[in-house]
Amino acid sequence: MPYKNPEDQKINVRNWQRKNKKRVNAKSLKWKNKNRKHIAIYDKIRNTRFPEILKAHNEARKIIIPKESICEICGCPDRLEKHHSDYSKPLEVKFLCKDCHMRLHKSKEFENGR
Ligand SMILES: [Zn+2]
Ligand SMILES: [Zn+2]
Repeated sequence: MPYKNPEDQKINVRNWQRKNKKRVNAKSLKWKNKNRKHIAIYDKIRNTRFPEILKAHNEARKIIIPKESICEICGCPDRLEKHHSDYSKPLEVKFLCKDCHMRLHKSKEFENGR
C-alpha cells in the first residue's frame, strides 16, 4: 500500500521492526553467518586501506552519547550514532541519527570509502 506521507511510511517500518525485532535480528544474523567470509575480507581491506578509520572508531568507543542528545542534522533523538567528520581527530564526533548518518555516508562514500 502506498503512503501519502513518507514520514508515515518511515514510522510504519520502524514500528514493524520494533515488533519483529527477533525476526529482523535473526535475519541479519543469518546473513552475517552466510557472508562472514566476505565481511572479513571487506573489513581487512578497509582496515588496511583506512587504518585511521579503524583507529578513530576504536577511540570513539570511549565516547558515550549523552541521553539528551539529538541528531545534529534533523534533530531527531532516536537511534543516534557517532560520526567522524575527520578521522584524524578520533575524539571529535558528531551525533547523528541512523538515517542521517547513512545518508551522509552515501553522499560521501566515494570520497573516503566509508
Ligand atoms: Zn537525523
Ligand atoms: Zn559516520
